[in-house]
Formats: sequence, structure tokens, C-alpha cells
Amino acid sequence: MLSLTFLGTGAACPTVDRNVASLALHREGEMLLFDCGEGTQRQMMRYGTSFGFREIFFTHYHSDHLLGLPGLLRTMGLLNILGESDREEGVTLYGPRGAKSVLGGAISVGIERTKFPVEIVELKPGDVISRDEYDLIAFPTEHRADSLGYALAEHPRLGRFDPDKARAMGIPEGPLWGRIHKGETIEIEGGRRVAPAELVGPTRAGRTVVISGDTRPTKALADAAQGADLLVHEATFSDEDRARARETGHSTAREAAEIAKAAGAERLVLTHISPRYNRDAAELLAEATSVFPATIIARDGMQIEVPFKDGGV
Ligand SMILES: [Zn+2]
Ligand SMILES: [Zn+2]
Repeated sequence: MLSLTFLGTGAACPTVDRNVASLALHREGEMLLFDCGEGTQRQMMRYGTSFGFREIFFTHYHSDHLLGLPGLLRTMGLLNILGESDREEGVTLYGPRGAKSVLGGAISVGIERTKFPVEIVELKPGDVISRDEYDLIAFPTEHRADSLGYALAEHPRLGRFDPDKARAMGIPEGPLWGRIHKGETIEIEGGRRVAPAELVGPTRAGRTVVISGDTRPTKALADAAQGADLLVHEATFSDEDRARARETGHSTAREAAEIAKAAGAERLVLTHISPRYNRDAAELLAEATSVFPATIIARDGMQIEVPFKDGGV
């Protein structure tokens, strides 16, 4: 299972319809949080996102991405005191240059001491956090601040194992199946050797989700999003305000769509919508879909599943 919950989809300041930036990514029982604008903890309660995460990834330190952090950590500390949560492992905060000073300062606001360990890790463009099943890649963005985007790229999966053929070849169900599936050549009764290629199909692509953060549309972003299953791109402005987008280091909906198209992404979700547009932001959607039809506008509380391209599980 890989899915996203949009906790806040507005730019700059909260409105009745949209809270400021935060996004929860759920993958196989793990949750990663991206940015933490003011009020994020309440959005998490409202949309049923647990506090059971261990990591927050910051795209940059503008206040609409950051101010929710002290309150969230304080509430998590209170839950600890009440015995409702067990978080001895603590939380790790990742962000671009300045992480130690900015995030270190933010977590000390209004809290004498967090009730659990908080580690701060500074990332630079190109850094890769490699995990068992996926890589998290920090890529450069362009936003008049130290900023990063993030790509979560799952490792390729094993090819499909053919159980019927295995049985027909007289290989009993059990540990041998697992060994062949993982790429081992085995010997069966009668001394015949069975190579994995006889029973296992080609490796299958994992899924990729790319989160732009606040940025101008750049080639580096299109490169990072090559073939992405889902691109979450900021679209602060419409065509009419394209000069303003340039001045402030943001993108228009059309520019975001052009990146999705150049990247050959499967789907595009637009977020970080300026308060000047109404809840539907119909003009942004129209401008984007004229370039890249598979586009939707994020809304607070929206959940999106990211299936495998081959339909597998
Ligand atoms: Zn922002
Ligand atoms: Zn910003």
C-alpha cells in the first residue's frame, strides 16, 4: 500500500478551505511527513492520520511549512506523559541547509525539553537515504531559499513466480520456491538444476512519488520526476500571475503541468494553492489539464492511492 493524505494544500496562510503545507505519505505501515505548516497536528486528528511517524522531511523553512512543528511535538510529548503513546525511539527531522539552527530553534519554542529524542539531519541536493525497499532522494529546487524536493523511489520488485509450472516440474511448495524466487539456482530430484529464469518473470518496477516543495519549474525537477507514478507539484498561481510566480520563486499550474509532461509522469496533483483562488481553483485546473490531462487539484483531507503500473500488489 502506498498512499498520500493531503493535510494542508494552501500557500502562505491558512484559509477556511485550505490549511498550510503538510503531506503524509503512508507506505506499508510506515508514515513519513513532509512539511509541517501551522495547525498540522489538528489536520492530522481531523483526517485520521496517526502520530505514529518517526520522520519529518522539510522542503524549506518558510513559515507556512514550519510553524506547526513546535505544537505537534508538544502534543506528542503530552501524549507520552499520559501514557497513550510510546515514543522512546524519537523523531528525526530532515531538511536543507540551515536545518540544525532553524529546526533546532523551532523545536525549543514553548517547550522546555521534548519528552523524546529529536534528531536533526541536514541534507544537500543529491543526497540519497537508502532503505530496504526504497530510496528517498533529495533533489535541488529553486525557491529563493535553501530548498529541496523529495522523490521516494521504490526498488524494483521480484518478478512473478509461476507456482503451476513449479508444481508441474515436481518442485514442492516450500522453501525451494522462495529460494528460486529470490534468484537462486536450485537442484531438484534427479539432479536437474532449475534456474530462476525458468520460473520467475522479469523484475517489475517499483513506484515513485515526487514532491516538489515550493519551486520554480526546473529541469532538475523534471529529471527527478522521470516516469513518476505521482508528481505532487506546487501551483501557487495561474497564468495571469506568471510574473509574480517568477518573482516569488513559485510555479503556475501550467508550468507544473509542463514539468509533469516533460517527466512522463502518470499523474499530477497540484497543491500549495494561493488564497486568492476559491476552493475549486477551476482556472488552475483548466490551465494545467490543457497541457497534462491527468491532473487534479489537491484538497485538504484528500487521500490518493498510488497503485503499481502493472496492477500487481
Ligand atoms: Zn510555501
Ligand atoms: Zn516557500
